[in-house]
Parts: sequence; structure tokens; C-alpha cells
Amino acid sequence: MKKVLITGAAGFLGSHLCDRFIKEGYFVIGMDNFITGDKKNLHHLKPNPSFEFIEHDVTQFVKIDGKLDYILHFASPASPIDYLKIPIQTLKVGSLGTHNLLGLAKAKKARILIASTSEVYGDPLVHPQTEDYYGNVNTIGPRGVYDEAKRFQESITMAYHRFHGLDTRIVRIFNTYGPRMRLNDGRVIPAFMGQALRGEDLTIFGNGMQTRSFCYVDDQVEGIYRLLLSDYNKPINIGNPHEITIKDFAEEIIKLTGTEQKVIYKELPVDDPMQRQPDISLAKELLNWEPKVGREEGMKKTFKYFKSLSKEQLYKSEHKDFSNYINK
Ligand code: NAD
Ligand code: UDP
Repeated sequence: MKKVLITGAAGFLGSHLCDRFIKEGYFVIGMDNFITGDKKNLHHLKPNPSFEFIEHDVTQFVKIDGKLDYILHFASPASPIDYLKIPIQTLKVGSLGTHNLLGLAKAKKARILIASTSEVYGDPLVHPQTEDYYGNVNTIGPRGVYDEAKRFQESITMAYHRFHGLDTRIVRIFNTYGPRMRLNDGRVIPAFMGQALRGEDLTIFGNGMQTRSFCYVDDQVEGIYRLLLSDYNKPINIGNPHEITIKDFAEEIIKLTGTEQKVIYKELPVDDPMQRQPDISLAKELLNWEPKVGREEGMKKTFKYFKSLSKEQLYKSEHKDFSNYINK
């Protein structure tokens, strides 16, 4: 049985990856320190004999007994509000955490896949974003803690590949959504859906003309799985190229949820990217991958999940007014 270590396992993407690898017949070791994750995301795997969980902060030395075939490093705060609240931990998990996991991969002769992000392109001046674009990042801005941690992560991963011959993969993930996102994590989909469910107005930051391209989690997981099993070492974009303005997106959410609320406008966070759309030609060509789930279908599934949460989760005060955190 192949053994895979997944860091960030209690998070949104990490928990879906645990499910997928177990389904494919792997033994999965999940690791997390719960800083932005939730134990509930792994609850269903507790009795599974193919799953083991280790509570650990990956910025500290990571020890795993026995063999390891693959490592997927997904631990990191991922929502702008989260990394504004915990900037130092964000820098540390991308730098020190990645260093520890690369060291572990080298010791175990394991293949390692690193979760990078479209944020390495910053507020992009090239559209759509291709992998050969170097990006436009404000190193000292509030988002710099995440963007630069991820850029360093890519650099150290390539250095381990070139210098030590380590077998590495780098996925640049574009906005991904689905069940198990934290309702109060401040990202636009949980934010709008939470507001609709609580009967609050939907908060658009800026004039809403900024764009994003949303990928359903099952498509993202499929892309990551194919990349891991491929032999491609350079960064690759995985995301859904279907682009939409945040203003139009808010209208879609109002329609889907049936809320009678309106949209209200708040200040745009510093360095909020104005446009984002992945060029996925490389993933199509090398991995024979493209997204299959349209936004309407994906949003329906996601809303169903948020609707199923308890009142207590819905009204948890954390991050209810996201504008308190932006631009601080
Ligand atoms: P998430 O916050 O749901 O999950 C991240 C998990 O990492 C959490 O469970 C958290 O507790 C854990 N974690 C953070 N620091 C840790 C540490 N020091 N030690 C151990 N565990 C730690 O976020 P997500 O959306 O699932 O994102 C997962 C990964 O994918 C991140 O690396 C993120 O940068 C990347 N990513 C996600 C998206 C997206 O749209 N979801 C986009 C680009 C990149
Ligand atoms: N956004 C918004 N209202 C909210 C939360 C987010 O208008 O309540 C905007 C945000 O400013 C950004 C876009 O939605 O332009 C996507 O934000 P998110 O935090 O989901 O992720 P990002 O792509 O910025 O990392």
C-alpha cells in the first residue's frame, strides 16, 4: 500500500485530498495544527483503517516513522482575512514548513507536491495568467505575507529539485470552492452565502468590477491527482477559466439563494487583484485535464452544504464583518 502524507489535512482542500487518496487505495497520514482547519472535516475518516492523523505544526521538525511514498504540502492559511490575522504564521508555514517537508521528502526519497497559488502572480498585468508570467507582487503590502511565502516555497522547491534531485511538483491553485470551506473564513463564496443565510446584505469590496474564476473542488482535486502522477516538475496552473466580475457573481448568489437582501459596497482591500483567470493550456496538454463542473452546479452543491450547518456555526461571530480586518 502506497503511503501519502497530507499536510493541512483538516482544511478545505486537504480533507478532500485525504478522501480521494483513500478512495484510490493509499494509506493516508493527515497532519494539521487546526490553526484555520476544523476537526469536523476529518470526523468521517476516524474509523477508517487507511487513515491516521497526527496533530502537529509543520513549522517544527516533522517526524514520520517508516516509509513514505508521497507528500502533499497543503498546510497554510489561504483566506486573505486569515493571513491578515496571522501573518507571521503564514510566512513561517510557507518557508520553514516547506523546508521541513522538503527535508522529510529527501530523507524518505518521497515525491513531494507543493500547493502554490495564483497569488504568486500578484495583481497581474498579464491576462489570462500563463505559467511563464513572473507576476506583480507588492512585497511589503498586507498580502505580501502570503504571496511571498508562496513564491519562496516555489523557489526552495525548485532548488531541492535541482540541487538534490528531489522529485517535486508545484500546483498553482486558482480560487477553488466547495463543501467544507469555513463559513466564516472571509473568502467571497462563504461570505456571500453566509450573509444570504443570515438575511444580511452582501458586501462587495470596491466597485465589484474585479474578476475571479472559480473552480469546483472535485475538479481541483482531479487536477492535483493527475499532476502528482505526472512527470512534470515546473509549476502548473489548475483552475477554472470561466471568469466573472464580483458584482455579477453577487447577483448570481442572490438568485441562487433566493435572498431578498441587496448588495452594499465596502472599501477594497489593499492590493486586491483586479483580474484573475488561469490559462490552463499546459494542464490540458500535459495532464489531459480540464474542469467539468460548471459554476451553477458547483454553487448549488456548496450552498446545500452551508445550509446544512448549525445555527451556532452560522452565527459564530468570528469574521462576520470582514471589513473590520481589511486594510489594517
Ligand atoms: P484551509 O485554511 O481550509 O486549510 C489549510 C489547513 O492548513 C488548515 O487546516 C490549517 O489548520 C492547516 N495549517 C496551517 N498552518 C499549519 C501549520 N503550521 N501546521 C500544520 N497545519 C497547518 O485552506 P485551503 O483552502 O484548504 O487551502 C489549502 C492549501 O491550498 C493552502 O496551501 C493554500 O495556500 C492553497 N490554495 C488554496 C486555494 C483555494 O482557493 N482554496 C487557492 C490557492 C492556493
Ligand atoms: N470580496 C467581496 N466581498 C466579500 C469578500 C470578498 O467583494 O465579502 C471580494 C474580494 O475583495 C476579492 C474577491 O471577492 O476581490 C475574491 O476574494 P476572496 O477573499 O475569495 O479571494 P482572493 O481571490 O482575493 O484571494
